[in-house]
Amino acid sequence: MTLSCIFTGNELLTGSTVNTNISRLGELLSARSLEIREAYTCRDSAGDISRALFNALEKSDTVIICGGLGATTDDLTLDTASRFFGLKLNSSKELEEKVKKFWAQRHKGHCPKFVLRQARVPERARVIDNPNGSASGIAIESKFNGRECRVYLLPGPPNEFIPMLKAQVLDELEALADGTKVFTAGFLACGTGEVRLSTLVKQLELPGHLNCAYTAAPEGCRFYLSGSDRDEVLSKLEKVRQAVGEGALEAGELSLEEKIISIMKQRKLTLSTAESCTGGMIGSLITAVPGASSVYMGSAVTYSNEMKQLLLGVQKSTLDSHGAVSSETAIAMAEGACRKLGTDAAISVTGIAGPDGGTPEKPVGLVYVGISLNGSTRSVELRLRGEREFIRRRTCALALLELHKTLTAE
Ligand code: AMP
Ligand code: MG
Repeated sequence: MTLSCIFTGNELLTGSTVNTNISRLGELLSARSLEIREAYTCRDSAGDISRALFNALEKSDTVIICGGLGATTDDLTLDTASRFFGLKLNSSKELEEKVKKFWAQRHKGHCPKFVLRQARVPERARVIDNPNGSASGIAIESKFNGRECRVYLLPGPPNEFIPMLKAQVLDELEALADGTKVFTAGFLACGTGEVRLSTLVKQLELPGHLNCAYTAAPEGCRFYLSGSDRDEVLSKLEKVRQAVGEGALEAGELSLEEKIISIMKQRKLTLSTAESCTGGMIGSLITAVPGASSVYMGSAVTYSNEMKQLLLGVQKSTLDSHGAVSSETAIAMAEGACRKLGTDAAISVTGIAGPDGGTPEKPVGLVYVGISLNGSTRSVELRLRGEREFIRRRTCALALLELHKTLTAE
């Protein structure tokens, strides 16, 4: 089985929607040792969808088309795929009832006729139930260039696409993939860039049939190794981990936040954050980890000097003599968070994210991070370059790296 994917939607190409479905799909497939051979992103245009389907089927026998199954005029996937395979579209009484029921739960009055477009099923196709929306998924089995092929049409909203994949498509794909499976494992190399990592890997002279992949992240670089033999992949991955040395998480560990939570949970340590220029982003990263609640107590987002004093007990004299963006304030914020929020550890952040607010002494990108653990507090000065969002995101990653360093140095 070879799989290609097509993502439809103008919004994916204009930047108004991030294609989160491709990353989730890739993640779910890798977990089952499956992979996407090619992915296309195209506009809501019948011609473009058709062309993408033609190109995808030239290389793959299985295609997932995501998006364009709704009731509006830009939803063209069902009609386009049916025409592509020469299949007649018939309205299903059962689906009509479902669409009407969905409509009634959300709207007053009669379900308009155009909404019932979602109740159409191509002849000989199979319906994939959508428990979270009114557009059903469709599985078509047909022939292309004389070869068997199958195409799954699935709705674009992530809360519909992902559950449908998990419940009704992935098992099928896995069963079809016998013999063509690829096992992938990886780890996060904290604080390591792509160039250093790839240089280390080159020196190891790994066998050519193994595939290496690098993903740069603000907190370091994720390294993935793929191959058909699980044991071989894992043993070579261990070699790469050893070459990286300090900063390499364990095999399978790809998130710094997860690692921090796991270490702190094990040691029964609690954590809080005191954030200025990151405005709660560190708290958001940490709380994205399931089970963070046993470690993470909360955050004080203290943007103004008044809030730093009021919520964290930072002294006015500290702010007056050193400024809000200073090592002294970062330390006072971290200590204040431990004291006021009653935690063993705290991360604090204060800096100038720009584009305004910089001075020659304190330029945009100057950030102080405070790390407090069991009563001992230190600060780190960061000098970052780039746009506001980059500075904020990078600050979060470096602050988490500093906490990780402190936890692992003990
Ligand atoms: P659909 O009507 O099925 O084309 O999808 C409609 C909704 O799903 C819109 O709000 C889209 O922005 C969202 N959506 C579609 N494709 C994706 C995708 N690949 N990743 C994230 N959201 C998406
Ligand atoms: Mg769409």
